[in-house]
Amino acid sequence: MKKQYLLTPGPTPIPPEVALKEALPILHHRTSEFAAIYKDAAEGLKYVFQTKNDVYMLAGSGTGAMEMAVVNLLSPGDEIIVASCGNFGDRWIKIAETYGVKVTSVSVPWGNAVKPAEIEKALKANSNIKAVYTTFTETSTGVVNDIKSIGEIVAKTNAVLVVDSISGLGGQEFRTDEWKVDVNVCGSQKGLMLAPGLAFISFSEKAWKLAETSKIPKFYYDIKKYKKSFASNETPFTPPVTLIVALRESLRMIKEKGIENMWNDYKLLAKAARAGMKAIGLELFGEVPCEVVTSAKVPEEIGGKIVKTLREKYGVSIAGGQGDLKGKIIRFAHMGYIGKADLLVGFACLEMVLAELGMKIEKGKAVAAAEEELIKG
Ligand SMILES: *Cc1c(COP(=O)(O)O)cnc(C)c1O
Repeated sequence: MKKQYLLTPGPTPIPPEVALKEALPILHHRTSEFAAIYKDAAEGLKYVFQTKNDVYMLAGSGTGAMEMAVVNLLSPGDEIIVASCGNFGDRWIKIAETYGVKVTSVSVPWGNAVKPAEIEKALKANSNIKAVYTTFTETSTGVVNDIKSIGEIVAKTNAVLVVDSISGLGGQEFRTDEWKVDVNVCGSQKGLMLAPGLAFISFSEKAWKLAETSKIPKFYYDIKKYKKSFASNETPFTPPVTLIVALRESLRMIKEKGIENMWNDYKLLAKAARAGMKAIGLELFGEVPCEVVTSAKVPEEIGGKIVKTLREKYGVSIAGGQGDLKGKIIRFAHMGYIGKADLLVGFACLEMVLAELGMKIEKGKAVAAAEEELIKG
């Protein structure tokens, strides 16, 4: 037996109130009882998304909603801009190219934030661009992008703005409508404190207009089917009933706390996490650090061993780097149901592991620095 601490940027731990809902007997999905739950959950999603538009739920991970945002807007041969700054931004390129969409990439090296001015330049250079795809919090590097500025730029054109907010929603200020985001996609297992398996997508009027011209074939992911069912508080196919019952509870908890208060909590956790890393000589990674995950560089000699040792010896799961960053960074999440005490546990165990792997650190310094920030509040 080993007690587990999940401090990874997805999946994240879930509150016991939400876990208990997942244990309830299965409801049939074509009943008024389920429709009422679905309706509540749909309202809760609008609040978390900060949108007036309907937010559709589908069975699938976040990537399913990303694919939905490609196949429902575009036709083969269409031109889009992808502004990527990491692994998840690059996923937009892979999905689009799968369907024969032509991608103009205004990507930046991993660790940097995308440049709104570059998006503006690329839009000016090509009036055929149908949509701009980007990422809010790039979980692979820990960087946040300036979606508000990008929204201002894209709104002045005919292009639709699509944002992957899978890891950032709930954890850091995001305003779908105010920031002029046309399509916003999210998943259940990060900031929304739920098990993996549900994905969400919102569509603006401008997006619906573009969707009318879309010729990419689709069946399960055809958003028109979801829109039609939504009107009667249903999904077109069998939904993950259990997850939607639990979703209603997690969204109720978020609403009760207030989304702004959530954002403030993670801001403080991020401050404490950054202070903790610096205190033991780990240089922060990323040009504009986000507030849901903290990335830091680690010595390459031990970089490959930290994550595994932490998990095996202490039951603490954090994440390492992806792609070229493998073995070079660690990523410590503070999203979803991760709190102040979890952060301190994570740092205490990280210090032990770094010391055990031979790094010269003064034990207790990361914890002390994090405590300092948490006390200041
Ligand atoms: C986790 C994540 C994804 C992928 O989501 P899945 O649920 O694994 O499909 C995409 N984008 C970002 C920013 C993420 O953090």
